[in-house]
Amino acid sequence: MNDFLFQPFSKFVKLSDFSHKLIKKCCGGDRVIDVLLHFPSSIIRRTDDIQNFSERDRLTVVIKVTDHVIPSYKNSPYRIVGQTPNGEIITVVYFNYNRHFIKKTFPYDAVLTVSGPAQRKTDGIEITHPDIIASPGMAKYYVGTEAVYPLVSKLTNKTLSYVVKYLLKSLPNIPEWIPAEFIEKYHLMSFAEALKEIHFPKNLNDIESSAAKKRIAIDELLANQIRLKELRNLLTSHTVPIFHKTNEIISRLKLPFQLTDDQLACLSDIEKDFAAGTPMNRLLQGDVGSGKTVVAFISMLIAIENNTQVAMLAPTEILARQHFDTIRKLSEGLNLNIDIMLSSNRKLRKLQIEKLKNGETDILLGTHAIIEDNIEFKNLGLAVIDEQHRFGVQQRLTLIKKCKYPHVLSMSATPIPRTLLLGCFGDLDVSTIKTKPSGRKPISTSVISVSKVHELISKLVTVDSQIYWVCPVIEESESLVDVNTRCDSLRQAFSENDVQILHGKMKPKEKEDIMARFKAGEFKLLVSTTVIEVGVDIPNANVMVIEHAERFGLAQLHQLRGRIGRGDKPSYCVLLYHFPVSVVGKQRLSLMRETTDGFLLSEEDLKLRGAGDILGKEQSGFDTLRFSDFSDNYELVQIADEIAQKAAPNDILYKIFKRQNDDVIA
Ligand code: ADP
Ligand code: MG
Repeated sequence: MNDFLFQPFSKFVKLSDFSHKLIKKCCGGDRVIDVLLHFPSSIIRRTDDIQNFSERDRLTVVIKVTDHVIPSYKNSPYRIVGQTPNGEIITVVYFNYNRHFIKKTFPYDAVLTVSGPAQRKTDGIEITHPDIIASPGMAKYYVGTEAVYPLVSKLTNKTLSYVVKYLLKSLPNIPEWIPAEFIEKYHLMSFAEALKEIHFPKNLNDIESSAAKKRIAIDELLANQIRLKELRNLLTSHTVPIFHKTNEIISRLKLPFQLTDDQLACLSDIEKDFAAGTPMNRLLQGDVGSGKTVVAFISMLIAIENNTQVAMLAPTEILARQHFDTIRKLSEGLNLNIDIMLSSNRKLRKLQIEKLKNGETDILLGTHAIIEDNIEFKNLGLAVIDEQHRFGVQQRLTLIKKCKYPHVLSMSATPIPRTLLLGCFGDLDVSTIKTKPSGRKPISTSVISVSKVHELISKLVTVDSQIYWVCPVIEESESLVDVNTRCDSLRQAFSENDVQILHGKMKPKEKEDIMARFKAGEFKLLVSTTVIEVGVDIPNANVMVIEHAERFGLAQLHQLRGRIGRGDKPSYCVLLYHFPVSVVGKQRLSLMRETTDGFLLSEEDLKLRGAGDILGKEQSGFDTLRFSDFSDNYELVQIADEIAQKAAPNDILYKIFKRQNDDVIA
């Protein structure tokens, strides 16, 4: 019976293939539940009270067609005159019309129900572009409040409403998954009741917030918290052998610098976790450039000293490669087997899998490729997850399930406010690198209007350093300066060979080439999209221009800016803005000018746009949440977490909120 929710809706409602496809597209899936979770965004009120209707309402009347007034000028409207049974004159007005349609729809003497936006004029009532034209007997159905749905083109609200109502009518009894004590404690309605309320809104308040929406939000968060609980159980129910720092490998490590106090403190936290006999679940956070990688690397060495393998998951190929390079360099003379696995490179996969299985590989770096089903380890003892907020719970779970001893070290350059931790990650321990390695020169930031771009460019031509020029898009669009156009103008100012381009649509090999040449100092200016956002470490490049800075969020601006200021020369960041700039946009830019403190910026970001956006939705891995938000609904997150502690593992709930794109990994 619960299966009903997960069947294709076409099994229950007969529709044309065309409508079926449109609804599937509109609702993001063709299961019954996909349609039922497509919520109305507004309402329409219809009334048949011809004496007292408001201009916000739609008026529903039955008319007999008495006349057609064909427009005498090209742009004047077509009018159909009719009369109600009580003799009121109603004129139906069309500004855009198809004569054939009108003739067919409103033949003389026809009696029809029409409903639409209405106005009282001196000579009767005008209904403009009625959205309902039906037989007279239908009038009684077009009175009351109607839900208005977000639609895709060619799909009508009428069709979608019909399907939703039909499905709701057929909804079987759904067993409650929330324990009774919580239903009572938090006054929750049932899931089915909530759906019904949402699809039959009585007024605008019902659309904006309601007990029904709260129930759905809690269910969605509950699905998430139950997964997190599973993840947590994996990490706490085990006992694992103690990992000792034997120094067998670490004693041979030759770092090109001294670790900072913060780095040492974080390492000491990690060593304690390893010595606890239970799995580590620690988040290592620190601003971009604070030196997290080396801390993670030394942790890896401890795991390897204890005869286990290590995997490190990164969100992008560029980042994975960068870690690969860094770690290979740091490992010189340590005699370790380090491998990298990327989706774009499957050539060596068979051999790679073999080496993982027989334990030959010590460290495996990679993107999502490393969590695919066929990747098995002989004895994975530590999973490092870089930029962990970019991965959904399911992905993290998949990696952790591959571990023999599930120690997890997560890393994040975006400081995650305490309040978000519970919802995103469940509980975990946090170590923070607060101060950056010394000797870094500060980054000064200026904010400049694009009207001064020529002066800026002529200044840049004379500076003696490499330059990043970041643009937000790669395709021509009306108002954004795209990478190619900017590249052309920069090539004129510099020289053809001194300006190269990098964007996400290039092949990985091309991207890599360009980055390698830039790193080697072969050209002066790199124009790129935000693909350089993470992972690029080029000390020589100490100037960055961010074009259309007003379009970026604070977190992203900060991440981008973190690419410079890595060498020993002072660095400059120019935020180039185009008009118009919103009020919040202006505040962001001046904050960026005032501080380079990532933690402060993230706090301010929180204030400016609400915590939900802090990590950037599209890259956060939280976009699976549709009805709730970890931060705006922090209270609900807590409730959901409380329920999750008592609720039985629940597959239905997971299936309800599972989105199609989760399948790629899961
Ligand atoms: P992030 O925290 O952004 O991952 P990285 O680990 O990439 O930072 O470190 C940024 C740069 O700082 C690297 O070039 C790294 O070699 C260097 N670095 C890390 N630790 C130190 C240190 N203690 N002293 C000097 N340089 C360091
Ligand atoms: Mg890093």
